[in-house]
Amino acid sequence: MSWENSVRRVVPYTPGEQPKEAGIIKLNTNENPYPPAPGVQKILDDFQISDMRLYPDPEASMLIQAIAENYQVKPEQVFVGVGSDDVISMAFLTFFNSAKPILFPDVTYSFYDVWADVYHIPYQRIKLTDDFRINPEDYKIPNGGIIFPNPNAPTGVLESLELIEEILQANSDSVVMIDEAYIDFGGISCLPLLEKYENLLIIQTYSKSRSMAGMRIGFAIGNPKLIKYLNDVKFSINSYTMNRVTLLCGAETLKDSAYFENCTGKII
Ligand SMILES: *Cc1c(COP(=O)(O)O)cnc(C)c1O
Repeated sequence: MSWENSVRRVVPYTPGEQPKEAGIIKLNTNENPYPPAPGVQKILDDFQISDMRLYPDPEASMLIQAIAENYQVKPEQVFVGVGSDDVISMAFLTFFNSAKPILFPDVTYSFYDVWADVYHIPYQRIKLTDDFRINPEDYKIPNGGIIFPNPNAPTGVLESLELIEEILQANSDSVVMIDEAYIDFGGISCLPLLEKYENLLIIQTYSKSRSMAGMRIGFAIGNPKLIKYLNDVKFSINSYTMNRVTLLCGAETLKDSAYFENCTGKII
């Protein structure tokens, strides 16, 4: 038993099942039923395998540039990762570094407590109200950070920018992360709050609304200081998280906003 005493033990997150047999209509992981934008196919057709010899751009510049343009922010405000799971994991490691507990709702994305456990971050689950809403008063207690999805998952309940702003105002000593995995299906992104709150980190993903769960692209938008701290941690673990094909496809799909709006519209 000796060496096992110093093993980092954790009960892992269980990802949604990906059935091996064909002919199943899958609803369990909220994948998009429509294919990615048609321009992505052309990128794959044109990709030269000899380019695989070389490492990708460690700064993921072309993808970051494309995201910055799309959301009208500066490239220094964008961080990318291997799905938003990678982005959120990096953000936990970077920003949730206090002895005080981080706060998240009791009914929410079931990965948050797993990251907290694996990084030894103390946490407190805050009860949703009886109608599954967040009560901002509950988030005005000492804490080492806050995270929740908006709309929340799996409840689907959307909270207002006023509520998010109230939580930000009460927590200028913590980083507040808003996981906007489903924001493209309804609701207003809290991007406009970035100007006022340097402790706000917004996380989005290509997996749901952009039909690219299999490519693994997620990103965070925030104050350049937050992004710099995130990059310091990322470059201390793995410089090349985004491969060459992913960078090309991720930048390409943002060009076709008509296709994107049509698909999200049909799903809504
Ligand atoms: C799907 C989902 C994610 C993770 O998505 P990635 O595929 O890793 O980008 C994060 N948060 C919520 C709430 C989700 O539903």
